Amino acid sequence: MLIAKILGDYKMTVYVCLHCEYRFDTEKGDPAYNIPAGKTPADMPEDWVCPECAALGIDAFIVEEE
Ligand SMILES: [Zn+2]
Repeated sequence: MLIAKILGDYKMTVYVCLHCEYRFDTEKGDPAYNIPAGKTPADMPEDWVCPECAALGIDAFIVEEE
């Protein structure tokens, strides 16, 4: 997880879907969509998709710059 290292370990990191702007932060996860706290798109199963628009998660999500 190169990106996480650059941003510094476990600060809140917000991931944003490129396709629909759905976002979640790694500190809280998103209980509404069964995303546990501390998970990033890279930790999810390969077939995990954006809960809002069904884009394939790992490729669809970017880290939001603060
Ligand atoms: Zn999406």
